[in-house]
Amino acid sequence: MANTIISVNNLVKNYGTFQAVKGISFEVMEGEIFGLLGPNGAGKSTTLEIIETLREKTSGEVIVDGLNLDKQPNEIKKIIGVQLQTSGFYPGLNLLQLIELFCGLYNRHVDPMELLDMVNLRDKAKSKVKELSGGQKQRFSVATTLINNPRIIFLDEPTTGLDPQARRSLWELVKNIRQRGTTVIITTHYMDEAEYLCDRVAIIDSGKIVAMDNPDALIDKLVASGFERPKEMKLANLEDVFIKLTGHSLRED
Ligand code: ADP
Ligand code: MG
Repeated sequence: MANTIISVNNLVKNYGTFQAVKGISFEVMEGEIFGLLGPNGAGKSTTLEIIETLREKTSGEVIVDGLNLDKQPNEIKKIIGVQLQTSGFYPGLNLLQLIELFCGLYNRHVDPMELLDMVNLRDKAKSKVKELSGGQKQRFSVATTLINNPRIIFLDEPTTGLDPQARRSLWELVKNIRQRGTTVIITTHYMDEAEYLCDRVAIIDSGKIVAMDNPDALIDKLVASGFERPKEMKLANLEDVFIKLTGHSLRED
């Protein structure tokens, strides 16, 4: 049985009189890919940013790797990797220089080319972020989460707006990161992505968790309740057609 690495207990977030997160509780196990799923406005980013120490909670308890968010936020910061919006990178610097900047901030040494290799961006070492495609930008921002060798990384909708090839490339990257033993928390509103990537998911709607389990178990439960798809299941979908016709290879370079 894996250890609990994140424990969220009765978390509440009010924005003025509006309650965005309504007392949610969940645990994330060490080494898993945990998905927070939900429609826009469900409270995914708010929840993530509170755990990341970037946003104040209203009430509730958050423990990350045995560290209490209220008492040891700086200790938590040291063991997590947070994905920045790509617009947050200094525009004048190239990828190598940005990695060196982060190394300085974190007081860490990494081999920048090794890191760029991992995300398939060696060729872009001297490029600026604005010169990258959407998928490349996302891969770079995932790479920057790894610089402080974190135990947990947080990815907030990393594939939104990417084409199917770039999404698949990012999925493989996330799986590789987990393979190295890093715990991943990811938000998405793409259910195929969650089904492919996540060991367990919590479905959030209007600030409440409405289901939590592994994707297969959630599907089995729905089927057991008598649910049937209105249309006969086909053995492929339109995305399969698209990938078959246009291939898996990335179109960005
Ligand atoms: P999600 O990431 O699931 O789309 P968010 O956590 O961003 O959801 O937002 C949850 C709800 O809280 C939304 O209704 C959003 O409009 C509201 N909200 C988010 N940030 C703020 C803020 N800084 N001030 C007021 N309301 C906010
Ligand atoms: Mg969000």
